[in-house]
Amino acid sequence: MKKVAIVGAGLAGFSVARKLRELGFSNSISLYGDEGMIPYDRPPLSKAYLLGETGRENLELRADSFFQQNEIGLFAQKKVQRIDAESKKLYFDGGDEQYDALVFATGATVRQLPESVTGGLQGVYGLRDLRDADNIAKAFENAKNVLVVGGGYIGLELAAAAIKKDLNVTLVEAAPRILQRVAAEPTSDYFRQLHQSKGVDIREDVGLQRLVSDGQLSGEQVGNGKVSGAELSDGSTVEADCVLVGVGIVPNTTLAEDAGIEINGGIQTDEHCRTSDPSIWAAGDCASFPNNGGWLRLESVGNAIDMGECVAENLMGGERIYVAKPWFWSDQYEARLQIAGLGTGHDQIVMRPGEKEGAISHWYYGAGKLLAVDAVNDSKAYMVGRRLIEAGRTPDPALVVDVETKLTALLKN
Ligand SMILES: Cc1cc2nc3c(=O)[nH]c(=O)nc-3n(C[C@H](O)[C@H](O)[C@H](O)COP(=O)(O)OP(=O)(O)OC[C@H]3O[C@@H](n4cnc5c(N)ncnc54)[C@H](O)[C@@H]3O)c2cc1C
Repeated sequence: MKKVAIVGAGLAGFSVARKLRELGFSNSISLYGDEGMIPYDRPPLSKAYLLGETGRENLELRADSFFQQNEIGLFAQKKVQRIDAESKKLYFDGGDEQYDALVFATGATVRQLPESVTGGLQGVYGLRDLRDADNIAKAFENAKNVLVVGGGYIGLELAAAAIKKDLNVTLVEAAPRILQRVAAEPTSDYFRQLHQSKGVDIREDVGLQRLVSDGQLSGEQVGNGKVSGAELSDGSTVEADCVLVGVGIVPNTTLAEDAGIEINGGIQTDEHCRTSDPSIWAAGDCASFPNNGGWLRLESVGNAIDMGECVAENLMGGERIYVAKPWFWSDQYEARLQIAGLGTGHDQIVMRPGEKEGAISHWYYGAGKLLAVDAVNDSKAYMVGRRLIEAGRTPDPALVVDVETKLTALLKN
């Protein structure tokens, strides 16, 4: 294989390129991005970077020199417009390029609220890239009342950031509880209580009806084009001069779909991360892969790295089957939540208090098998849980809850 083209210069695309060179691939690698940036780390965008605690230069996954030394052709501002899978060509404005193997690592886009809800008003932000984070940081400077729409990780991290900036924060979650899609009730309870203790007004089971601008809340029809409040599904209203939308992401699949590639909740891959076209692969947030008889798409750093590396190994002739080892973290105030595994389908949860004050972990079991562990400020419980899950081992729940049992002893049983 002479030329590998990677569409998307994010974490997954970068991981494919880095791993290919590590494995001794000596032919051409082109990494196409559309953000004009060296591949960078997104998690700090809702955390330290948004708060001004770390700079842009610290986000870069590698310095420019890494790409030069490793002869990885990084085209940071070259959006791929179309792919012709038959002739193995990719097209961008003003040119085209031949490939032998292509990797989709196109990531995802923030899900937007419909215009019938936002009214096209200014002051409404989503967060996916650096530019979004810069815009939100700027908006915080003049804001007073922040409305966060969505109580998932991003929404909660944004709420924590706004509180740290001394802003008034209301968070609405249409589901009955925050984190409903990703965590069990005890974890939601923990984070609800944490946010409330910091001053966030959390409203669950309440949707956003529509945003309004000055004057509209008191019944006038025309506002000034800038958001000033919101009407909620329970009939209440809130003031808001800054609205942060964290209602999920949509995988970037259009390019693949237009090239005739199968889509299934993401760019569908087989167990080797290969798409329905044998010369085309996919990794990261944009890709769905076989899991437990269905297809799974993960949105996490761990998945972007692992799946990217798996693609590289298989491009080199390997036959590695991609087995996801999900892990994730979220930082909110002084709390660090770490999750290993996927709790979907659990029928039992046991709780273990940690050694330090406020530390706690929840262990999720399904049909007697350990499925996932989520731990707050307890990295030891997380690490032990992760090792057990990855090894397919299940500790006795009675031992897990017994604080007299050392965590490391669970690994030995
Ligand atoms: C604010 C924020 C906080 C997060 N926090 C955490 C966290 O705490 N823990 C965790 O595990 N995960 C976290 N994540 C998720 C994690 O960052 C993503 O799962 C990861 O970045 C996915 O990598 P990716 O390469 O698949 O996609 P991306 O990082 O989105 O990269 C895809 C790239 O492809 C580009 N692209 C798309 N189409 C084209 C095209 N046609 N031509 C050229 N380029 C194109 C995109 O612009 C983008 O630059 C967070 C994400 C965000 C946004």
